[in-house]
Amino acid sequence: MQLPDDIHNKTLKTIARKVMEHIPVNRDDTFEMLTTTDITELGAIANHIRTHYHGNTTYYSVNMNLNYTNVCTLRCPLCAFSCDPGDKQAFVLSMDDIEKRVSKAVGDGIDEVHIVGGLHPDLTLDYFEEMLWKIKRIKPNLLIVGFTAVEYDHFSKINRLAVEEVLRRLIDAGVGAIPGGGAEIFSPRVRKIIAPDKITGKRWLSIMGAAHGMGLKTNATLLYNHVENTEDIVDHLFRIRELQDETGGFKTFVPLQFHGANTRIRSKRRSSTGYEDIRIFATARIVLNNILHLKALWMYLGEKMAQILQQFGVDDIGGTYMNEKVVHAAGAETSDYGTETFLRRMIEESGMIPIRTTADYQNGFFPALNVTEGQ
Ligand code: SF4
Repeated sequence: MQLPDDIHNKTLKTIARKVMEHIPVNRDDTFEMLTTTDITELGAIANHIRTHYHGNTTYYSVNMNLNYTNVCTLRCPLCAFSCDPGDKQAFVLSMDDIEKRVSKAVGDGIDEVHIVGGLHPDLTLDYFEEMLWKIKRIKPNLLIVGFTAVEYDHFSKINRLAVEEVLRRLIDAGVGAIPGGGAEIFSPRVRKIIAPDKITGKRWLSIMGAAHGMGLKTNATLLYNHVENTEDIVDHLFRIRELQDETGGFKTFVPLQFHGANTRIRSKRRSSTGYEDIRIFATARIVLNNILHLKALWMYLGEKMAQILQQFGVDDIGGTYMNEKVVHAAGAETSDYGTETFLRRMIEESGMIPIRTTADYQNGFFPALNVTEGQ
């Protein structure tokens, strides 16, 4: 499809023209994209940006998830994973457990480990430093993608240290990148319902900004399909874009489809529709053209949607994620582990070329971001 000539929807034609001329889209454009039914034309615009950055390659990773505890002092209504200390399903992984799990996964060939957990009231920084040292000893070049901004804030409070100091110590111990969890939706109205005690959107952004300042690359997420409205999504995207303009530290944007089973969110929505998923991903690709990668986690979306989205801006479908617990506790029906063969097939059958990589994309091919200043 030739842009903007082959776009017939008037609003999308204007947006296509802006994209071709490297003019940033505005909030009104974004609202229109998030509500259009012309998903083929929207997809053509998103795909133009995807192709510019990544051609016909799609990335995937061979990794494991390490959820070190499910004990959490916040007990957010959106969460199906956490529990109180002393609950019968409560667990904290010992150093032995961690060593065994990581050694097994390293034996299976992983390149990275994703570590996230609940906010445990008694686990001090020593526990995390020891965990990281042990993991690095098993495989020194394993990429550790560790701890959300929400956890860094918690570590800072319970250890009475500035968040920068916590970041410094954990980077020294082995953290190589930061996942994007905990962003949810920045709107205070929505946060009050889904995660009232979680750090504010402002604090999340400031911790990410601090991490970027220390040279760490991070992801950013957006949790959709609960009680948010379209304006909340628009605002979230723009606040991510603004921080990226300042720091350039976001490597990947990851929209996450909310799963509500076993949570305390009483939304009339069940699963998002295919149109909603497509609109969110394609719009994110267009608005966040200052972030190189757009990832669709097959485990959240299902393999069929993860395939389709590669034609709507997505260039990364996530990883093998051995032992994923968080989204499965909330009712995801996908497998909690995908083999490398399965991931490669999912990509190849979408007409793309699979490239195995890690969260820092050290081994991929990347053109420079080609956006005008301010985008
Ligand atoms: S979402 Fe995170 S912070 Fe909230 S209860 Fe669950 S584990 Fe704790």
